Amino acid sequence: MPHNPPPHDSHDICLHELAEPPVQYVLAPPIARQDIEPVVVSAEVQDERTRWQRMLCRFGGDAASGGISLVVHTIALIILALVAIVDDDGPRGPEIVLGPIRDTLEEEPNDSSIILPDVSVANDQPQVIEALPTEVRLPDAPNIDSPFAARTVAAVEVHPTDLFRETSVNDLLEATNTPIGGGFEGRTEEQRARLVAARGGNQASEDAVEQGLAWLAEHQRQDGSWHLNHQEGRCNGRCPHPGTVGTSTGATALALLPFLGAGYTHQQGKYKDVVGEGLYYLTGRMIETPHGGDLQEGTMYSQGIATIALCEAYAMTGDEQLKSYAQKAVDFIVRAQHPRGGWRYVPGAPGDTTVTGWQVMALKSAKMAGLFVPSHTTELAKEYLDSVQDPGGVFYGYQRPGKESGPTSVATLLRMYLGWRRDDSRLVGGYAFLANQGPSQTDMYFNYYATQVLHHHGGSDWERWNIRMRDFLIARQAPSGHEKGSWYFVDRHGTAGGRLYTTAICTMILEVYYRHMPLYGEEAVEDAF
Ligand SMILES: [Zn+2]
Repeated sequence: MPHNPPPHDSHDICLHELAEPPVQYVLAPPIARQDIEPVVVSAEVQDERTRWQRMLCRFGGDAASGGISLVVHTIALIILALVAIVDDDGPRGPEIVLGPIRDTLEEEPNDSSIILPDVSVANDQPQVIEALPTEVRLPDAPNIDSPFAARTVAAVEVHPTDLFRETSVNDLLEATNTPIGGGFEGRTEEQRARLVAARGGNQASEDAVEQGLAWLAEHQRQDGSWHLNHQEGRCNGRCPHPGTVGTSTGATALALLPFLGAGYTHQQGKYKDVVGEGLYYLTGRMIETPHGGDLQEGTMYSQGIATIALCEAYAMTGDEQLKSYAQKAVDFIVRAQHPRGGWRYVPGAPGDTTVTGWQVMALKSAKMAGLFVPSHTTELAKEYLDSVQDPGGVFYGYQRPGKESGPTSVATLLRMYLGWRRDDSRLVGGYAFLANQGPSQTDMYFNYYATQVLHHHGGSDWERWNIRMRDFLIARQAPSGHEKGSWYFVDRHGTAGGRLYTTAICTMILEVYYRHMPLYGEEAVEDAF
């Protein structure tokens, strides 16, 4: 095993006895490239899995004496994770010397079984914005608090700490325009409920999240994985609209993200086994390479999404077993970057904005988890965004400068995470552009990014968007049958990703209130302290 067990800590055991014991997960060792066949779990992994499952069955009985397993109290680790999130400045690992991706990784993919979500075709066409089917017919707007103005006023009153008192009004205004939030602290049960109430969610949106998660759990395969063709296993074809992309790492990670987003980990909540088996599958699929941990299974889409899942799970639990997997996955992304800053389907290829979006979000998740990300990598990513930015600074294209709604939604969110001020005139133009585009009735990929942008922006644009987006998704969730709790919309991403992709994305849209803490504003200021 690559992970040494931590020293026995009697204090942890003592705390452990006071609460529900954490599940003992021993994650799979990365497997060598030559041992792996696409999508087929190797005998080595099966053996490892059987051993791991035996340990799962024993959990609780002899947790304290399990020589291999971790026994560390969840709360202590969450505290450690929060410390790591706040203190994310210095490097946490060895400096990685950037070098060329080896030749074999620069080849075009030749696996004909993998159908890439070819967004380039649609995105390369000039879009007639007015013609987009973006109008959502709304029911009468329910009463919704206007939490934003109220919270801004209340901020100075409800944080009477010494630090806060020493903060001048100018400092506060400056801080509320600087992106210093975005962490995972809103995912605890208490924070989740508070943020739902404060930022525009309601009981119906929370019920929809839980039903989406229940559908995802029901469609997990026996080996812990998910596939975009969700119809095998318990579903037995009862839910229509399977996806066509053949990656199990990408699909498994995509399904894990909404569980993590709602606060469910392999150590916490009612989906411990679901999340634990998914993480186990994911780590078992990692291929050790000289460039880091390869989770692509065909495309860098999967690498980015899987890396986000590993980083979030590590950040939320502090589970040391996940740390090296997450760091290796990050290392692979670092090494797969094109010299001009972007990422595309294969490592080292000139970038596109959608694949780059997943990688940059993975790097930000890694930073929030306290993992090492070379600053050179994020600086290059900014240069990539510069290269696809419209001269006016507001709009973005797919691989070249343009004014396309999808790439603009992705790139605007990245600009926010990469440090642009909330009141930057280029962002202000982006907010208005995105707000006028939707929500889309079909393009959940666009909605996923635009919803996050407008949530972090706040204000009246967000309030209008939120009511339309939230109530549209609640109304369109499958109400009955085996597909109860799922979503499906016909568009280019929906066809490729199917019901599983659509359900994961829509569930995360409804988790927007707490999945990431606000990037700007009084709560971000609180985080910084
Ligand atoms: Zn089904």
